[in-house]
Amino acid sequence: MTRNIGIPITVPKKECTDKHCPFHGILSIRGKLFEGKVVSAKAKNTIVLQKESLVYFTKFKRYARSKNTIHAYKPSCIDVEEGDLVLTGECRPISKSVSFVVVEVKK
Ligand SMILES: [Zn+2]
Repeated sequence: MTRNIGIPITVPKKECTDKHCPFHGILSIRGKLFEGKVVSAKAKNTIVLQKESLVYFTKFKRYARSKNTIHAYKPSCIDVEEGDLVLTGECRPISKSVSFVVVEVKK
């Protein structure tokens, strides 16, 4: 059975027995959402996401590019490839650097 995680998204069609899955496991999502592009999907259940944004420096009256990179957990019911646009939600820390989990893939 698929759980309602409280965000209006399309739920994955596949089912899994992953306990770190927000839809079929016991992981709850709270806090921030992070949307970014997949930079690396080489690890087994972890992906690397990057987001580019513009920051304004009032002193120089100019914009500078900034990058944010996070690691996110990928449950086994969601397939992700490099270059995909992915939405992740904050969860409890799964490992030292992973505290976000993939909830939706936007092509
Ligand atoms: Zn699942």
